[in-house]
Amino acid sequence: MPLASLPLLADWPAALLRLLLPLRCLVCGDPGHDDLDLCRACLADLPWSGRACLRCALPLPDNALIVCGSCREEAPPQAATHASLLYLPPVDQLLVRFKFHQDLAAGRLLAQLMQRAPPPWSCLPLVPVPLHDRRLRRRGYNQAAELCRLLPMPVWQGLYRRRHTAPQSERTAEQRRENLFDAFDVRGPVPPRLTVVDDVMTTGSTVMEIAETLRWVGAEEVRAWVCARVP
Ligand SMILES: [Zn+2]
Ligand SMILES: [Zn+2]
Repeated sequence: MPLASLPLLADWPAALLRLLLPLRCLVCGDPGHDDLDLCRACLADLPWSGRACLRCALPLPDNALIVCGSCREEAPPQAATHASLLYLPPVDQLLVRFKFHQDLAAGRLLAQLMQRAPPPWSCLPLVPVPLHDRRLRRRGYNQAAELCRLLPMPVWQGLYRRRHTAPQSERTAEQRRENLFDAFDVRGPVPPRLTVVDDVMTTGSTVMEIAETLRWVGAEEVRAWVCARVP
């Protein structure tokens, strides 16, 4: 019988579970370290996000201002963005495995890493970037919602995608914004302050479109927290 189908696995004491399923580095296969499916060496080498733009999380040189040139030119609708990691090896492969290959162990590890590098603000409640129903059915789960579920914070489920949009890859930042125009809507009253959660931030167009939607329907302040930022 596969372990995943054992009844009440979640109720088993952690120590017993550890004996049955010892921690293994998801990158190199060595024994896990520090309660993670990651070995000591791979943990030490992770590309944590360092100094970055307060508004869009773009990495910045040490001597730069705290807001990047493009956010200074035109402030994005989100008040702040925090990335825990950079989209570099091995984080990029872990995210691909989680997003496209049903590797939920990789998702759990990424959520644990997000918890170790949280935003410097109180980020309640979390709002996962929604998938359209059609894509959700095809993929089986929403990676942003899954990350939120694994983080120990309340989640607001009122945001949804009102129409299917074509994939964002291979588009410029401007085309991405156009592609997403009016793509999101909300059900029910909106909390005054929210933190949008996504797995990867590339140009920031999704977070910006969502922040604009949430502010339009009454949110006072929208911030964003992503697992990894494309540098
Ligand atoms: Zn390793
Ligand atoms: Zn910026």
